[in-house]
Amino acid sequence: MIEIRNVSKTYGNKSVVENVSLNIEKGKITSFIGPNGAGKSTLIKSILELIPSVSGTVEIYGKTYKEKRKIVGYVPQRESVDWDFPTNALDVVTMGRYGHLGWFKRPGMKDKRIAMECLEKVGMEEYAQRQISQLSGGQQQRVFLARALAQDAQLYFMDEPFVGVDAATEKAIITLLNDLKKQGKTVLVVHHDLNTVQEYFDWLILLNVHLIAAGPTKDLFTKDHLQKTYGGKLTMLDSETSPILINSR
Ligand code: ADP
Repeated sequence: MIEIRNVSKTYGNKSVVENVSLNIEKGKITSFIGPNGAGKSTLIKSILELIPSVSGTVEIYGKTYKEKRKIVGYVPQRESVDWDFPTNALDVVTMGRYGHLGWFKRPGMKDKRIAMECLEKVGMEEYAQRQISQLSGGQQQRVFLARALAQDAQLYFMDEPFVGVDAATEKAIITLLNDLKKQGKTVLVVHHDLNTVQEYFDWLILLNVHLIAAGPTKDLFTKDHLQKTYGGKLTMLDSETSPILINSR
């Protein structure tokens, strides 16, 4: 579905993503795993053409991102968003419909109805008229997921969707990701909690500036691969078959 070839990005003279080539499979929930500063967000932003001066190529179904952007949904890191912007939850979700509208068209009743349905799917219908600055972190994250759902994309990128959310929201998010997968959609998630990786994800992309490995979780979630990815930043309680992770920061 996505072919990434020789993607590199430098800031000043520092390489943050170096010569990464990989294919991303359709219909799976895939996670980008690696220590802080490994280039996970940068790689996603490179795929989505959100940062300049990236070398290499990315093709989505053989086309550029610009040609395929309507089928791609993006949920950025919650901290990267200006939550003081004066707008309510329903309007944020309705914005997800803009890709479906023609030039100069404003969202109509149908778009509002779809946006409302998406808020219901994430359990946020009661908060439709609430200003986004007055939502909790978990509620804001749900609104963002609803916005991505409203877009009705084929492919979703989510940057750390579980950060700062309570257990109920985490459960709601993972249920939603599994629903998307059942509908044949492809989901890519930047994630840092190694304790939930095996439960949540089918496929892993292990990254530390370079690509360490990409493949099924059952093959890659091993002590050896994790040590190659995290180096000294990882503490494990020894167990050959199933590493028990203490600290991935
Ligand atoms: P991750 O998502 O794996 O934590 P990032 O992709 O956010 O890593 O960052 C990779 C590296 O690039 C980090 O060292 C970070 O400080 C650096 N970096 C990210 N964005 C910028 C930027 N706009 N200017 C300079 N350095 C940046």
